[in-house]
Amino acid sequence: MSKKTLIIGAGGVGNVVAFKCAMNSDTFGEITLASRTLSKCNAIAANVKTRTNVTLKTAQVDADLVPDLIELITTTGANIVINVALPYQDLTIMDACQHCEVDYLDTANYEHPDSAKFEYKEQWARDEEFRKTNIMGLLGSGFDPGVTNVFCAYAQKYYFDEIHTIDILDCNAGDHGYAFATNFNPEINLREVSAKGRYWENGQWIETEPMAIKQVWNYPEVGAKDSYLLYHEEMESLVKHIKGLNRIRFFMTFGESYLTHMKCLENVGMLGIKEVEHKGMKIVPMEFLATLLPDPASLGSRTKGLTNIGIFAKGIKDGKEKTVYIYQVTDHEKCFKEVMSQGVSYTTGVPAMIGAKLMLEGKWQGNGVFNMEEFDPDPFMEELNKQGLPWKVMELDADATRVIV
Ligand code: NDP
Repeated sequence: MSKKTLIIGAGGVGNVVAFKCAMNSDTFGEITLASRTLSKCNAIAANVKTRTNVTLKTAQVDADLVPDLIELITTTGANIVINVALPYQDLTIMDACQHCEVDYLDTANYEHPDSAKFEYKEQWARDEEFRKTNIMGLLGSGFDPGVTNVFCAYAQKYYFDEIHTIDILDCNAGDHGYAFATNFNPEINLREVSAKGRYWENGQWIETEPMAIKQVWNYPEVGAKDSYLLYHEEMESLVKHIKGLNRIRFFMTFGESYLTHMKCLENVGMLGIKEVEHKGMKIVPMEFLATLLPDPASLGSRTKGLTNIGIFAKGIKDGKEKTVYIYQVTDHEKCFKEVMSQGVSYTTGVPAMIGAKLMLEGKWQGNGVFNMEEFDPDPFMEELNKQGLPWKVMELDADATRVIV
């Protein structure tokens, strides 16, 4: 019986997922792209048709509403739902999938619109229901979370008996020519980077002020970049699943202009997520700011340069200390040529498609709710090489460092 795939969310990432599923239509079968704004789905479907000759179905849906989602999933007859709308919709889409007994995948953990917490608690709480219903939920199948989790599982499988420290490194050295813009949904991006920093050491979480820890990391093929410690959701599952871990941190690069703008916006209250009264109307400052900023999906044609995302891990193999750096480099302009998107949407959308492909092909299977590092990394790593995200491994001296200051 041929498969049916439902993609929800027609933003920057949804565009890439739609293209990549169409390019693998033998696996994905009949593909429907649904989102809040039907015209966005139709525009993507038209581009996909022109470039791949695959016809996508399109639909309008408000993914905040479980009954509407149930109707959509039932009508499409989907075998899997790929959720690339916003993290606010994770729980409603999971609940609809459970009702319809259909597998689920996303790329970002649930967030409540009124509180920027990044945790898996509410999604993990659905594990039992998913088990009982015999369906699978794959959480965080983007790049980070996503590929970074798979890199950790791969390091654990082939390079270490015990991993002691992991630094997840996310470098975007792309330039879109704007003084200030975000590479994925502005609201989600700014909530993430303006939150307090947090890392895990010796069994506990240590909190820092936002952007309080800076290191200059030397990224292969890119060079030295200012990198700031942030909290990032994949750490929450990795501390549970990676053996012998003493410390895990996450660093992301930011340029001067981005940080100066962000500080200024924060100082004047534009990053607020609570409603304020404006001329008799209620507005959320962060939502208003997102309206003013360039749509991330529109950055594709302007962005030049590379991304480099990877994991820098230290540990023990056969009684000896060692260091391994696993990373992936993406060229923004190449992504635009292939699927009309910049590199950040590309590096998120391709792994979302790969996760779904492995589920549909039965290579990653299970009942319940899973994080990426719980599965055999091999088929995913193979697909990364085939589907546009080739990766590299550097084996380094035990005391190697890529930190310059
Ligand atoms: P965009 O804002 O570009 O796209 C989000 C899409 O979701 C929009 O098309 C929007 O529709 C749609 N949407 C929002 N609310 C609803 C709703 N209630 N019902 C139906 N559709 C809705 O975001 P991105 O494409 O940049 O990001 C998509 C997801 O990917 C986010 O969850 C983000 O956190 C995640 N991400 C994960 C990364 C990773 O590496 N793991 C990296 C980058 C992003 P409309 O346009 O009509 O409003």
